[in-house]
Amino acid sequence: MNKLALPPSEWRIVWQRTALILAASTAGSWVMSNLVMMSLDEGMNAVGTVLALGMPTALGGPILLFLQVRSAQLREANRKLETLASTDWLTDCLNRRAFTSRVTSSLGQTGGHGTLLVIDADHFKTINDRFGHERGDEVLQLIAGAIRDSVRGGDLVGRIGGEEFGVFLQDAGDDIANAAAERIRAAVNALFVTSEGIAQRLSVSIGGAVCAGDSGFSELFQIADRRLYEAKHAGRNRVELGRTAGDSELAAMSAAIG
Ligand code: GH3
Ligand code: MG
Ligand code: MG
Repeated sequence: MNKLALPPSEWRIVWQRTALILAASTAGSWVMSNLVMMSLDEGMNAVGTVLALGMPTALGGPILLFLQVRSAQLREANRKLETLASTDWLTDCLNRRAFTSRVTSSLGQTGGHGTLLVIDADHFKTINDRFGHERGDEVLQLIAGAIRDSVRGGDLVGRIGGEEFGVFLQDAGDDIANAAAERIRAAVNALFVTSEGIAQRLSVSIGGAVCAGDSGFSELFQIADRRLYEAKHAGRNRVELGRTAGDSELAAMSAAIG
């Protein structure tokens, strides 16, 4: 892609800023020229007016436009770098660091509403062994696509380990979370990996933690990971959800303790 290419929104900013600064400097130049001419006891003449109004545009215009374009290119390059730094190279999901930090800030903004799902591909070692590592990589891309297609646009999807994904369902309580996790499980289970007459159906096991109170990422992750372990031991290709202790439950527990 051309390194000069800017999106239309950036071009709008370039033209707006260039026009604004030029208008201000032209007005300033006209006022200054008038003051100088008046201090010399001469009124402003036609040549002075043309010079006062024309010079800032003729001399400063191209330089200003060039600087605005360069600064827009820098902004665009920064945006691309940020996206690159937060994206998993294989699946295009958020990487672990970006996923963790976005879930943490989402929990902070909503006062702790949402559900964290930890999704682990079943028997992935066998898939690599039977179909090869490259095919395994393609399968991870397929699974990531199935997960993305099963959740809402605002939900967060990350690859948090080799064959492990995280999903944060914004504002989702038990019912919505259960339905979303089941959708993901079923979508992956409808996929096959095939090669030279061999076919293997894909599946994932899902552990989840519904946030019922003011919890942080690590508490949610611990609960979801424990549920994932249970899903694996219960036979895989299944969903197990847990929840954090809500504020009312915590209050009841501390009242019971005294
Ligand atoms: P389980 O159902 O218990 O999760 O079994 P599993 O085989 O999926 O789990 P295990 O932890 O034994 O193996 C995970 C495998 O995932 C082993 C590793 O080589 C593979 N894997 C991890 N990251 C990648 C990757 O980026 N690409 C590919 N192709 N394979 C990967
Ligand atoms: Mg794993
Ligand atoms: Mg696995």
